Amino acid sequence: MTADPAAYAAVSHWLADAGDLTPRAPLDGPADADVAVLGAGFTGLWTARELLRRDPSLRVVVLEAEIAGYGASGRNGAWCVAGVGMTAGELARRHGAGAARRVVTELRDTVDEVGRAAAEEGIDAGFARTGVLRVARGRHEVPGVRAALATWDRLGLAEGMALLDRDELAARVRVGRGELALFDPHGAVLHPGRLVRGLARAVEARGAVIHERTPVTAVVGRRGRARPRLRTARGDVTADTVVVAGEAWLAQLPGWRRRVLPVYSLIVLTEPIGEDRWAEVGWAGRELLSSSRYTVDYLSRTADGRILFGGRGAPYHFGSRVEPAYDRHEATHATLRAQFTDWFPALRGVRFTAAWGGPVGMPRTWLPSFTADPRTGIAAAYGYTGQGVAAANLAGRVLADLLTGAGERWADLPMVGRTPRRWEPEPVRWLAVRALQRALQRLDDHGLATGRPPTGRTLAERLTRH
Ligand SMILES: Cc1cc2nc3c(=O)[nH]c(=O)nc-3n(C[C@H](O)[C@H](O)[C@H](O)COP(=O)(O)OP(=O)(O)OC[C@H]3O[C@@H](n4cnc5c(N)ncnc54)[C@H](O)[C@@H]3O)c2cc1C
Repeated sequence: MTADPAAYAAVSHWLADAGDLTPRAPLDGPADADVAVLGAGFTGLWTARELLRRDPSLRVVVLEAEIAGYGASGRNGAWCVAGVGMTAGELARRHGAGAARRVVTELRDTVDEVGRAAAEEGIDAGFARTGVLRVARGRHEVPGVRAALATWDRLGLAEGMALLDRDELAARVRVGRGELALFDPHGAVLHPGRLVRGLARAVEARGAVIHERTPVTAVVGRRGRARPRLRTARGDVTADTVVVAGEAWLAQLPGWRRRVLPVYSLIVLTEPIGEDRWAEVGWAGRELLSSSRYTVDYLSRTADGRILFGGRGAPYHFGSRVEPAYDRHEATHATLRAQFTDWFPALRGVRFTAAWGGPVGMPRTWLPSFTADPRTGIAAAYGYTGQGVAAANLAGRVLADLLTGAGERWADLPMVGRTPRRWEPEPVRWLAVRALQRALQRLDDHGLATGRPPTGRTLAERLTRH
């Protein structure tokens, strides 16, 4: 990418709407720090902030391949929710009900912490605690929504949730084929671009140095008396600890390539919608909206009256490649625009003014990993499966505690201290992921065509149960 701010503004609406994008100075030679961070997204920046809050004298250097917020943090669906890529039911099945409750409770607190911390830093991130509506769009999605509430209830986590029938849903938002919805109060909508760019300025104000347009080519752990370092073409940053926070882009970094699988999530955005048309739709509460599609759909209403509509479905690329060219996939973007009209028949004809996308990082275990290894001096947090807006803040606090010897209170979280096993090598990976993507699409199509809910017994459902 060139150093031209206009090229960065083209990455997403959020970056285009986040003020000056002129890149900061790149690293210009070898440097020394207490902590060196790879990646200026939410994970790297929250970690830097939390470390500097604990010890303002720390010398923290952040190296970013492009500009702060260039990654998923500056491109996402604006959902700040208590998710980690695995349902609470699946968390309970794999790690026990106690662990599931602990994770969900920490993440619910984290949603509020994001709003609180942004305010403390004076960042106008547009944080609004709106809650989430999971809508059953068609009869085939009704059992899944009811089952989700039953699971929350069984785990003692359903407080504040409510099942809305068709009329109650329509009183909040009128969506095509809306049969039923589950309201979950634990969610907020925000402006991710302003949050991530504001955070970069906030950590600088606390004393961190951010070098942009500085790709790290290798992460080197402690070897004997040689301290850990982040290697770049312009020299190494040597530190006591290095923090790896590159999410889906780690799939390109030697030694990390099979830790995450990049799966593209794509977004379309409408023009600001006039008040008369909003009157037909409702949605004054700006709840985050989704259905139960296996191919995933997520919607948010922006503060300036647009609708953001996102979904998966773009093809996985052989070798886990991540390229700017993959951020846009016309067939998938066209499908999203068509699905939008199905969601909001009353908004037929509304214009779309932006389309973008980016890779989410999928770990083989579906659960993010927060680790700090005192032996190698390498800490890392990644693998949010497209749900890192809140979880990255938790990661920052966990890593900062682990690195300052106060990590015990997090030891029982299943994402702490565990490195996910690696993805299969190619071509197995490509064949399996493409086959799964097609199978999930067929499941969605079949449910829609027949009105029958998924059985939960197909191979694709069992393999992707998370
Ligand atoms: C289209 C899309 C929609 C999403 N929607 C949502 C949502 O609504 N809610 C939600 O919770 N989550 C969502 N996510 C996921 C969420 O945005 C991420 O989980 C979160 O932002 C991860 O933050 P991060 O800092 O770990 O990673 P990133 O924001 O990806 O930051 C990683 C940074 O590291 C840099 N980097 C990588 N490798 C190197 C290197 N070698 N050298 C130097 N720098 C490097 C990258 O340039 C990047 O800036 C979405 C993701 C996408 C792509």
